[in-house]
Amino acid sequence: TAPIETLEFQSEARQLLQLMIHSIYSNKDTFLRELVSNASDALDKLRLESYRDKDLEADTSDLHIAIETDPEARTLTVRDNGIGMTRDEVVALIGTIAKSGTADFLTKLKEAKDAAASQDLIGQFGVGFYASFMVADKVTLVTRRAGTAEGVRWESTGEGTYTIQPVEDAPQGTAVTLHLKPEDTEDHLYDYTSAAKIREIVKKYSDFITWPIRMRGEGEDAEAETVNSMKALWARSSSEVTEDEYHEFYKHVSHDWQDPLETIRLQAEGTFEYQALLFLPSHAPMDLFLRERKRGVQLYVKRVFIMDDCESLVPEYLRFVKGVVDAQDLSLNVSREILQQDRQIQLIRRRLVKKVLSTVKAMMTADAEKYATFWREFGRAVKEGLLDDFENREAILEISSFASTHDAEKPTSLRDYVSRMKEGQEHIYFMTGESRSAIENSPHMEAFRAKGFEVLVLTDPIDEMWVDAVPGFDGKQFQSIAKGQVDLESEADKKATEVAREQQNKAFESLLTWMGTALGDTVKEVRLSSRLTTSPACIVGDTHDLTPTLEKMYRAMGQ
Ligand code: ADP
Ligand code: MG
Repeated sequence: TAPIETLEFQSEARQLLQLMIHSIYSNKDTFLRELVSNASDALDKLRLESYRDKDLEADTSDLHIAIETDPEARTLTVRDNGIGMTRDEVVALIGTIAKSGTADFLTKLKEAKDAAASQDLIGQFGVGFYASFMVADKVTLVTRRAGTAEGVRWESTGEGTYTIQPVEDAPQGTAVTLHLKPEDTEDHLYDYTSAAKIREIVKKYSDFITWPIRMRGEGEDAEAETVNSMKALWARSSSEVTEDEYHEFYKHVSHDWQDPLETIRLQAEGTFEYQALLFLPSHAPMDLFLRERKRGVQLYVKRVFIMDDCESLVPEYLRFVKGVVDAQDLSLNVSREILQQDRQIQLIRRRLVKKVLSTVKAMMTADAEKYATFWREFGRAVKEGLLDDFENREAILEISSFASTHDAEKPTSLRDYVSRMKEGQEHIYFMTGESRSAIENSPHMEAFRAKGFEVLVLTDPIDEMWVDAVPGFDGKQFQSIAKGQVDLESEADKKATEVAREQQNKAFESLLTWMGTALGDTVKEVRLSSRLTTSPACIVGDTHDLTPTLEKMYRAMGQ
């Protein structure tokens, strides 16, 4: 007989499994959604691969998912005849967590104060296959990669190690068998050996899966019947689809465990037809600012899954948008390289971007709280768009909000800032810095505070960059209060001050000359200021000088 190897889970995987075994997540039913979701992905992958590789020796005649319950043995099996996995894939995919942001997630989890906080984090991370260990004390997975001869049997109790062993006669695809925890079987609510219970969960969480999910009917020799309706949500008219259905679909495509913040539908008819179903998540993923993160939506062509993370369809700054685009006129053979050049794809992308931006704009007035969540989670990413999406710059500014001296708690939109601008105020004033308190206590702020001018308080590193690149909003220029000569006076006042200034300059001439000599090359010029009301002196950058933060950034980069 074939040798059995015992291998260790990678340490991140081990930590996650411990959490699942001690099941701190309350909604245990979701384990089934994860298994069905994986089976569906495996069928998508097989269809695509067999289409691309005509020599692949795979059986694609009856692609489906089957679920079997065995109350006597207390097992539940989810089976698919999809792509399957090789031995090495099992080790790499099931024995480790390759998801970026995992380390960060685990650190946060350790710091979580209570069970609710941990649950919330798990919901954000999405635990996938490991969710099985919420309900099973042992999991057996038998799989054979399509086109290969030998299968693999994987088994684990989730406690640190797993075994792996070749099998001779495994069918194509993957079967996951859960040996259910006895305590759940006794509890009616969680009796996963009950076919009725399983059917109910499938209907609730996986109805939209486009492959048949079959279960044997009640009675001795009843036929297998399809449990799900299999309709692609984006192809159904929006009046027919419930919010719950959208939410479950979102969880399937995003691997998120939490509901989305907003659902967006888009339909284009005519010569170039496509449908899109997009979602704004309710929280930022752990890897939003990591370089190796994935982005983009799923691409389908005529209902056939083509690829995950199609980055050509969404710009970098909207990388958190999830969902599906189904195009009618593309070839099933498209590759990522072709997509980058494709004119139709570029057109879809333009339209998606505009739609996302207008949806957020509508949210600002329709549901301020929802918008506040959106901006808190994704604002820093969205602002990156100010640097590279010229076409939509004004629209991005329109949906942006910024901390401001107007209200210490609530950020302001630029539209609201402009509506509060004082008589004679021409510019939108801002100051960048490391923290709100640093900015508020800056001497630069004094004259503005005294005059009652509102100043935007910009503390994100990205703010340093876009304020230089973006000329203005609604015809008003952005003006740093820490740079150049800031003009706070009306014309009439100016004449009077000019005279006074002349006299002051005379009076202070010897002091200014002396200071200029004493400070030498460290400053360009020493001059009297109209900015200050209580501080005796402050350092001012030239209009084209770097801000202190940028200066620090460049210095850190060795420039
Ligand atoms: P995710 O689905 O988010 O990638 P999972 O933990 O659910 O994470 O699954 C990990 C990986 O294991 C999948 O990405 C897939 O490559 C592989 N996998 C899981 N289930 C199956 C299956 N039924 N058939 C083929 N591969 C599978
Ligand atoms: Mg999964």
